[in-house]
Amino acid sequence: MKAIVVEKFGGPEVLRLKDVPEPKPGAGQLLVSLKAIGVNPVDTYIRAGTYARKPELPWTPGTDAAGFVEAAGAGVTFKPGERVYVYGAAVGGVYAEKAVVEASRAFPLADGLSFEQGAAIGVPYATAHRALFFSGGARRGETVLIHGASGGVGVATVQLALSAGLIVIGTAGGDDGVAFLASLGVSYALDHRKPGYVEEVLKLTDQKGPQLIIEMLANVNLAEDLRIAAQRGRIVIVGSRGPVHIDPRLAMAKDLTVRGMSLWNMTDAEREHVHADLAKGFADGSLKPLIGTKFTLIEAHKAHTAILAPGARGKIVLIP
Ligand code: NAP
Repeated sequence: MKAIVVEKFGGPEVLRLKDVPEPKPGAGQLLVSLKAIGVNPVDTYIRAGTYARKPELPWTPGTDAAGFVEAAGAGVTFKPGERVYVYGAAVGGVYAEKAVVEASRAFPLADGLSFEQGAAIGVPYATAHRALFFSGGARRGETVLIHGASGGVGVATVQLALSAGLIVIGTAGGDDGVAFLASLGVSYALDHRKPGYVEEVLKLTDQKGPQLIIEMLANVNLAEDLRIAAQRGRIVIVGSRGPVHIDPRLAMAKDLTVRGMSLWNMTDAEREHVHADLAKGFADGSLKPLIGTKFTLIEAHKAHTAILAPGARGKIVLIP
């Protein structure tokens, strides 16, 4: 079978399509024939060799995918032919035609969802859920600023927040980004490339500021988030690509809570709870993964360049 193999850390060009042996599922595992693969920014950080977690080489990237169960090991209740989405392969990654996954990392794919939509669930929706509810303590009627709402995690956060009854202020880059957010049904859409847009957040909240901020680019925005957050507000850091200079006095004066959140810290019990909750939203149609650009597996290098470029509009997927 074909898989992307990384033999040395580096730029997107180190993503090479190769023939590799087909993996076999052991007890408690599934062999999944993959039909779509989700590309996440973290895949690029690991590929570059700059991330805290460095896998052994050669390495196949990727955690999120969807496809058919092809074979099931002992003790697995999934049946061959079942449609599933997966989060994390047992060995290596999912930038491949097939992958072996632990049964606990495979979830039934709702009838109404395509494989591409299934590949957009694992990291984005679980991250959004954990950031909003576990770390952010989101409550119905509150105002949340989703600072970077147009990407994979942002769209998932918007949908979860709206379905939980929050007032959503979302940001994206450019007029088309604002139009994209409006199409998601956000209460207010702002352009984070426009100077002064942060003042709009204060205007929209009667100068009180949002009670909750879900932050996708903290190195750029954290200082301003501290300034505009409501009294006793909560800021959850989901994404950051460097250091930032802040005035801690702002946090002190308003009793703010600033929390970091990493999906890697999710326990097995949390994962079960989160995916069971997500399943309700996929079934009732309140959660609908949106697909941005599609690439073939051999074009993985293009997907890695695209995901770090401005102009995210939903999820980037690879089709094997
Ligand atoms: P993505 O699909 O590439 O989206 C990136 C988002 O950042 C887009 O909405 C983009 O908007 C927005 N952005 C660009 N400039 C911004 C600015 N100045 N202020 C606010 N937002 C800005 O990435 P993703 O998958 O949604 O992930 C978002 C971030 O979260 C990444 O840094 C990723 O590494 C991180 N992440 C963390 C975890 C975790 O466990 N903590 C899990 C998943 C992802 P435009 O393109 O419209 O400008």
